[in-house]
Amino acid sequence: MAELRAPDECGVPDPMPFMHPTLRENYGKWVFHSHPKPGVLYHRAENGTEVWTVKFGTARQLDGYTVRLLCDLADKHADGHMRFTARSNVEFMVTAESKVDPLIKELNSHGFPVGGTANSVSMISHTQGFLHCDIPGTDASGVVKALMDELHEEFIKCEMPNRVKLSTSCCEINCGGQADIAIIMQHTKPPKINHDLVANVCERPTVVARCPVAAIRPALVNGKPSLEVDEKKCICCGACFPPCPPMQINDPEHSKIAIWVGGKNSNARSKPTFHKLVASGLPNNLPRWPEVAAVVKNILAVYKADAQPWERMGDWIDRIGWPRFFEKTGLPFTKYHIDDWRGSRTTLNASTHIRF
Ligand code: SF4
Ligand code: SF4
Repeated sequence: MAELRAPDECGVPDPMPFMHPTLRENYGKWVFHSHPKPGVLYHRAENGTEVWTVKFGTARQLDGYTVRLLCDLADKHADGHMRFTARSNVEFMVTAESKVDPLIKELNSHGFPVGGTANSVSMISHTQGFLHCDIPGTDASGVVKALMDELHEEFIKCEMPNRVKLSTSCCEINCGGQADIAIIMQHTKPPKINHDLVANVCERPTVVARCPVAAIRPALVNGKPSLEVDEKKCICCGACFPPCPPMQINDPEHSKIAIWVGGKNSNARSKPTFHKLVASGLPNNLPRWPEVAAVVKNILAVYKADAQPWERMGDWIDRIGWPRFFEKTGLPFTKYHIDDWRGSRTTLNASTHIRF
């Protein structure tokens, strides 16, 4: 049995010991790559070594049986090696073209869709959600599963103008990222405080410190130590709820889902861009979020029909302009699309200098 490795919490672990041997031997020596078909990437090294990478999607939260099955498939087809991508796809590498189709056939027979490469809708990335975080207003991974069921055809085919990255975030302030289409949980009212519980349940300095816009102050309410919220400053982020559950912010009426488009993290071909709000107030309607799926599918259908080949979502909107985007998608433009929150000028960090 391999020796156990000490846990390493500082940075990315060394990938070399776990890398497929052919990739390790040719590290930094790849001279050509292509995309023979959806879900398959081809690489050739300077010494002529060839590798085909087969990418497929999973249901994301994997049980032990599925992980064992994936390991068995890796042993059978891919020299015992596999890797998980940043979007929770799985990749098997094979060193002969003849191994590609039998591998795809077996993956499909187990229900794993092969795709997510080039100009497809790649697997949606999501934030930690209920499994690992204390703030979530929705189950971000559940939104992904429901939406990927709907977008299955766009994952296994490469019919989009360019790659499409989607992400879901279960709160508005922390680990979500820019995406061509981002689905983000929004609270729309400041927290309601249950003053009877604060003194027994919360460490008030911790709650005060947790607020990113300094909207919470200690206060005496009915003679008991409690808290108060400056509602003009509050950005309804939900960060105060975990250290102090009496700061009730999750609410079916006021905790909604919003959709933002045109964001991009990478520098590839064009500069990174911020995504922008295009739909808000969608119900947090689990377990299938049909209203969210309808808006996402509508935006994708219009983009697919209207964008030039190789235009990313943001490039397409830059070309046609936001008024045309709303006209073509039929999404209403409302007062909620205009950011009029002035608090950021004095409370949020707006420069590279750290302020406390
Ligand atoms: S997006 Fe917010 S709620 Fe979701 S995991 Fe990140 S910090 Fe937690
Ligand atoms: S919801 Fe966010 S901004 Fe509002 S009081 Fe709580 S931590 Fe502060």
